[in-house]
Amino acid sequence: MAVDGATIKKDAAGDLSRLRESVQACIQCGTCTGSCPNAFAMDMTPRQLWRLLLMGEVAEIFRSKTFTLCSACYLCTLRCPRGLPLTELMAGLKAEAARRGIRRHRASTLFYDSFLANLRRNGRVQEMSLMVNYFTRLGRPGPPLANTSLGLRLMAKGKLHPTWPKKGGGKLEKLFARVATLEAEERGETAP
Ligand code: SF4
Ligand code: SF4
Repeated sequence: MAVDGATIKKDAAGDLSRLRESVQACIQCGTCTGSCPNAFAMDMTPRQLWRLLLMGEVAEIFRSKTFTLCSACYLCTLRCPRGLPLTELMAGLKAEAARRGIRRHRASTLFYDSFLANLRRNGRVQEMSLMVNYFTRLGRPGPPLANTSLGLRLMAKGKLHPTWPKKGGGKLEKLFARVATLEAEERGETAP
């Protein structure tokens, strides 16, 4: 279900209060921004994002695409002088955007969903089926088709494998089930 900014604002007391607690000790030094390799592409810096989180500006946070551009490199987490779990906070915002079904973050949400489904099915990520699945769900088959010749060249060099790997045989099911249980417990819900 798509959620607009007004709904987000009303829902400000949701899970973001838990995320806000984790960033309480931020001193706004900007080391996270200075360390982030993706900051140049973000519409607000990580430091600004933490400030908005502290101020409870939920609608502003979800209007930004900053957290969707986090590639989980952990540099900010490693360098933050207050030892804050910044990469986990970015992941928490991605999860919240997905949970709230925010339309402007649909591409990011679909990518993570496709990534996890691919991992769960194959036991490892299979790049070709991941990209085909992701762009199909997004309703944009153009990018994979436009890169067909590149794909064929990579296949010829053995860098891309045309066969779908065998299913992971459910080897990761226990892991996925355990994570789902822990996440439900964290949200104070009954385990699925
Ligand atoms: S590095 Fe840590 S303390 Fe400094 S602005 Fe970023 S989150 Fe705040
Ligand atoms: S973990 Fe994310 S936010 Fe932090 S430095 Fe890396 S890309 Fe930037």
